[in-house]
Amino acid sequence: MTHNSNDDERPLGVGDALHGFCGGLFGRDHYDCCRVEAIGQDWVVTRADNGTVDFLSGRTQLANLRDYRKQSDYCPSNPCTVRSEA
Ligand SMILES: [Zn+2]
Repeated sequence: MTHNSNDDERPLGVGDALHGFCGGLFGRDHYDCCRVEAIGQDWVVTRADNGTVDFLSGRTQLANLRDYRKQSDYCPSNPCTVRSEA
């Protein structure tokens, strides 16, 4: 799996992994890495490996989420066990 600047610009899609705290976009209680389970024009539903579902809406928020597809120091486990399925 490669990371480049084009990857950062790619719209979010089902199966994308999102890592860690995600800048607090999902709220202060969201720490687990998760995957995009469903996505619409301006909303997204994610699921973590432990089954926790989170919802986020807003075009700006969705655009900001793209930055958290990279595994980071914020992942609760290292190496991270959550990978993109797309
Ligand atoms: Zn992670």
